[in-house]
Amino acid sequence: MDRVRTRYAPSPTGRMHVGNLRSALYEFLIAKHAGGDFMLRIEDTDQERFVEGAVDIIYRTMHAAGLIHDEGPDKDGGVGPYVQSERMKTGIYMKYAKELVEKGEAYYCFCDRERLESLRTEVVEGKEIMLYDKHCLHLSEEEIRENLAAGMPFVIRQNIPNEGTTTFHDELYGDITVENAELDDMILIKSDGYPTYNFANVVDDHTMKITHVVRGNEYLSSAPKYQRLYDAFGWESPCYIHLPLITDENHKKLSKRSGHSSFEDLMEQGFLAEAVVNYIALLGWSPEDNREIFTLEELIKEFDYHRISRSPAVFDYTKLKWMNGEYCKAMDPQRFYSLAEPYIRAVVTKKLDLKKIAAMIQTRIEVFPDIAGHIGFFESLPEYDPSMYRHKKMKTTEETSLAVLTEVLPLLEAQEDFGNDALYELLLGYVKEKGVKNGYVMWPLRTAVSGKQMTPGGATELMEVLGKEESLSRIRRGIALLEEHAGSQ
Ligand code: GLU
Repeated sequence: MDRVRTRYAPSPTGRMHVGNLRSALYEFLIAKHAGGDFMLRIEDTDQERFVEGAVDIIYRTMHAAGLIHDEGPDKDGGVGPYVQSERMKTGIYMKYAKELVEKGEAYYCFCDRERLESLRTEVVEGKEIMLYDKHCLHLSEEEIRENLAAGMPFVIRQNIPNEGTTTFHDELYGDITVENAELDDMILIKSDGYPTYNFANVVDDHTMKITHVVRGNEYLSSAPKYQRLYDAFGWESPCYIHLPLITDENHKKLSKRSGHSSFEDLMEQGFLAEAVVNYIALLGWSPEDNREIFTLEELIKEFDYHRISRSPAVFDYTKLKWMNGEYCKAMDPQRFYSLAEPYIRAVVTKKLDLKKIAAMIQTRIEVFPDIAGHIGFFESLPEYDPSMYRHKKMKTTEETSLAVLTEVLPLLEAQEDFGNDALYELLLGYVKEKGVKNGYVMWPLRTAVSGKQMTPGGATELMEVLGKEESLSRIRRGIALLEEHAGSQ
């Protein structure tokens, strides 16, 4: 068996789409699972689509996602260059194109734009495709030599017969056979001397000894032409795995419009890279036991590409958020604090113990931007309605709450230690003395210090963070509010 070698071969056209990241991840996992090599190759032959800075985005994203390549433009593994525009300068594509011309599998074409525009077109997968009529296939050797000598612009086209069929194999889709008449004599070398993406891809995968290719199934329709190229050269084609489409919740293709289609979008929305990678791994693949949470190391161990599914994968944002929450919960508290701190500081400007706030919210958020909604009351007590003191299960009303707060206030005023444990002990003493339920006392207190129905901690935890002075002032405010309410009854 050949050593497993995979590559991620992005075209630098912008942000890294979730679908691209999935291909990169699966390629990485296939290589690492087998103890092979994972390569990064930059496919920049389409100069019109090239976006400045996109190569940096690729490096940054791969690094953040933990997909560390063994070979690439910055790590020579002996089969470089790893950037197609640099490979082109070595003459490699022209050399192989000429080899095909010699074999009769490709031919020079000198047709100008005008002539090409007059040819018939066909709509394939929504796109208008021109089917070349093989006009230049019939030029004599002499005509070709003269045209070339005269410096006439040319392209080199693949020569696909009009009869017969071509069969190729995909790991997920099995053997697929197409009529050759449906295949266009696609351009291999463009008039600017650059190879087309399809041709460079084949030459590179072979010369760089790639064994497995994972990519989106939008490339499925080009696969037979690839097969013909491999056969024409007498090369063995790599194992192809064309992945199903990723859709949004409405079963439409995941696109920029959905707002979370790229890795960078997700980072900006406060997701953790490791949660995103974990989630993306499950977009089309699942382990035998349906487990869902995996570190990258665990994925490497478990990943078996034979278990990739053919059905479209739905990108479920709610599920990703849930998963991110699981990662937050399991995170080392120190790391959680360092990541959460900027989000906490954006809300809490007072000198409070932010570490304690972080510890309180660690198990309650899904993504970091959720933090703001949980902690605003630490900064200032919101306006709230006295009816908030009423709680059926706790058996509290505005009246019982007023009585409890009024009685507890002097105890708290006399309390020196405002730590959570000491406060809890103190209040528990009061609860026992009165023979009431905990909630009968804690509910009014928590309401008074937070003005909220839901808080990230219990009454005493909140009071510890707020400190004695602020807690007492809020309880007094609660008493005043409840007295006002009683007066108006
Ligand atoms: N350059 C192609 C892309 O960015 C790669 C396709 C392939 O992996 O073969 O989509």
